Amino acid sequence: MKTLKPKFNVTLLVLLIFLVFMPASYPVKAQPNPSPLKHRWIFSFGYGRNREGVNAIKSLIDVGTAHGLNGMVLSSFGLDSITRWKASDIALLQELRAYCDKKDIELIPTGFSAGYGGGALGHNRNFAAALPVSVSLVAKNNRLVPASSDNLLKNGNLETHVKGRFSGFGFHDQPGEITFVDTDCVASGKTSIRFENFTANEHGHGRINQKVFVQPGRSYRFSLKIKTQNLQPASSVRIQILKKNGNGTLASHSPSLKSTQDWTEVSFEFLNNQETTLLVYAGIWGGQSGKFWLDDLHLSQDNTLSNIVTRQGTPRSLRSLNRPRTFMEGQDFETIRNLRSLDQIRLLPDSTINESEALELTCYKIPSISHAWGNQISLCMSNPDLYVYWEAQAKQLYQILPYKKVLLSMDEIRNGGGCQSCQSRGQTMAEILGDCVTRLSNIFKRIDPAIEVIIWSDMLDPAHNARNNYYGVVGDFTGSWQYVPKDLTIMCWYHKIRDKSLTFFSKKGFRTLGAAYYDAKDLSSSREWLTSLTQTPNAQGIMYTTWLKKYALLADFGDLTSP
Ligand SMILES: [Zn+2]
Repeated sequence: MKTLKPKFNVTLLVLLIFLVFMPASYPVKAQPNPSPLKHRWIFSFGYGRNREGVNAIKSLIDVGTAHGLNGMVLSSFGLDSITRWKASDIALLQELRAYCDKKDIELIPTGFSAGYGGGALGHNRNFAAALPVSVSLVAKNNRLVPASSDNLLKNGNLETHVKGRFSGFGFHDQPGEITFVDTDCVASGKTSIRFENFTANEHGHGRINQKVFVQPGRSYRFSLKIKTQNLQPASSVRIQILKKNGNGTLASHSPSLKSTQDWTEVSFEFLNNQETTLLVYAGIWGGQSGKFWLDDLHLSQDNTLSNIVTRQGTPRSLRSLNRPRTFMEGQDFETIRNLRSLDQIRLLPDSTINESEALELTCYKIPSISHAWGNQISLCMSNPDLYVYWEAQAKQLYQILPYKKVLLSMDEIRNGGGCQSCQSRGQTMAEILGDCVTRLSNIFKRIDPAIEVIIWSDMLDPAHNARNNYYGVVGDFTGSWQYVPKDLTIMCWYHKIRDKSLTFFSKKGFRTLGAAYYDAKDLSSSREWLTSLTQTPNAQGIMYTTWLKKYALLADFGDLTSP
């Protein structure tokens, strides 16, 4: 339109008169619904709060606005810890805001995540979710130290094998075809297990498995040694701890491996709230080529003093295993602090704990989900201090960036519900989550009633994560969608179930958005999102979403989604 130079002629005058006096109800568009493309956004991910990050984000804005995109969700900037920022950080956000104003693109902050603790945890580690755990300790040299614990795996060092099969294990995939006893390449002892020729299995499986008996209310540590040689894809190696009763995954770890690397120890910890039997799997899912070896598999109780939560709802008690006696924190032993790593606690001068006394500490520890990038720690949604913290962040952020929309990072809340603050509410996790989202929404409405609150879909979606037996969560998320404000906008993000999700939320009266793209080779899945959104009443828009900083298709995405 900008290139047209209309002459002011009679035809134009007639048209103008028509437009001015056109009745309001005149059907401007044939479609019964508003355009699903009102919002066409970029998800800025992976560019941090620094000069390089801001420059990169500005480039995204340049490309996006040149191709019709009109909003940008700003992630990876730590926006929900803004009260702790330096003045230079504030200046960077002000610079971005000014650039967005200039380019006429809306800047939408995101954060306020209960699933990925982020900013709130940086403020206080005790905001973490917590599970009751017993820790075995022993008094040694005026200190409490972890009691030793045995390897619960049989034949974990892989030294015993009969006719190509390792004893003690439930199975290893296709012995003699995919899995082999190897006596040439070992981390220790005389044998290891080698995996290769993955295409001999229709799923590309190359795994070893063992059933193991464990105690509920204990922390465990799993470790193994691995060596790879031309392995493709090395990212498909996983360790899975499954619940025996078929109720899903208790813990999972994907180590960060190179396709060729020498023996490396991989380890992770997990809390077991209630299982008595676990299935441990280690190996590859979807292997294509190359080889890897495993050796020295080890699963034992983790009796360290790390990650003990010390807030309301997480009491502690230390008792002797030798005599009927409990001990006082701050009197018999020093006050426990919530530290990422803690292997000992000092006894105090008046302590009545005896040297070599065996003890059991009952406490609450932080459950986490292990990823290649680190541990995912969820927050306790029943902690009143969390909302005080979040409100301070939301207010301060509004001072710098007077946002009209906010995207709540309320996805993948994989732990929670286990502490006394949660348990004493007598509510389901669905109700606790609903209350959390409602309180957050109210925080924003208090700042500015016009703020539109958007939320990732999965925790409210019955076809996705709004269900029972979700990771380490104590309680059931089923029905969570009933307990959130009706004026939320739902950002659906699971391509495979997009129609189901969009229809579900639309029928419940929610506005929706679609998080498209996701690092594919082309925009075919984005086209499918567009079709689905077009057919959804009250769909508001679409977002170019990447979790790998892949923005090469951003211009094409803009062209595809813009009028
Ligand atoms: Zn809790």
